[in-house]
Amino acid sequence: MSARGYVGRFAPSPSGPLHAGSLVAALASWLDARSHGGSWLLRIEDIDETRTVAGAADDIVSTLSALDMHSDGPVLVQSQRRSRYAAARERLGPAVYPCGCSRKEIADSRLGLASDGAAIYPGTCRAGLAPGKIARTQRLRVPEAGQAGELVRFDDRWLGLQQQHLAREVGDFVLQRADGFWAYQLAVVVDDAEQGVTDVVRGADLLDSTARQIYLQSLLGYPTPRYLHVPLLMNAQGEKFSKQNGAQALDLSRPVQELQRAAGLLGLDTTAATSRERFWELALAAWAARFARR
Ligand code: GLU
Repeated sequence: MSARGYVGRFAPSPSGPLHAGSLVAALASWLDARSHGGSWLLRIEDIDETRTVAGAADDIVSTLSALDMHSDGPVLVQSQRRSRYAAARERLGPAVYPCGCSRKEIADSRLGLASDGAAIYPGTCRAGLAPGKIARTQRLRVPEAGQAGELVRFDDRWLGLQQQHLAREVGDFVLQRADGFWAYQLAVVVDDAEQGVTDVVRGADLLDSTARQIYLQSLLGYPTPRYLHVPLLMNAQGEKFSKQNGAQALDLSRPVQELQRAAGLLGLDTTAATSRERFWELALAAWAARFARR
């Protein structure tokens, strides 16, 4: 167990039911927490209310329960925590500035694309809004290329050493969106800190966000958790398995098989299990053999 006492979490977005891809992240975070003698918390990431599907949050919580994964504390719901994100934004002071650029204007500046597909922001509104421009978003200023703090490094427990140049690869990033919603990057950092999370275990699609989150933690005076990004389940077309491309809800009449498929993707051999109890024994032993000391 880490010196601070391990606290892990699973943070699904309620944009549909739990599917085979999100189960992989849930399972990995649960196994890592248990194999460190730690606690595991659930958080509903419904901060982007445009993507929330009615009933999905309850459905995810009950599906996890049916698979023996229960939150060790109250389930945090992001849409109820807007005042916490606003308070964090206040603490960031002038590091955050209003930006009046549209997506098209940013794309036209041709600085290239960040690895998450968004155009890199050229810093147009850094020194203030040009006359006639109206604030659309709030952006966080990152250190200039080559300045201290611009290169963020971390040791991912699955993928090894990672680094990202914030100015060159991301640019000043959005903390409050044009529709008024707080951005995921801000909400996740505030919530991980306020839930006392020591270890983030999640899908590799979020690897690219980690440097931004570490930078925000440093500005807000929060500790940086350890990170472990697990492989993504891909569909036959080689795309991330997601609700957007038609992933089906899990088949809860076959819980052991669903769990085994997720464990298999994590490289854990649980094929001998014929019951849920046996599955958990095998999966925990296999995970602990690989990660308990990392
Ligand atoms: N809510 C995010 C998702 O469902 C996960 C965020 C995280 O684990 O940091 O993809």
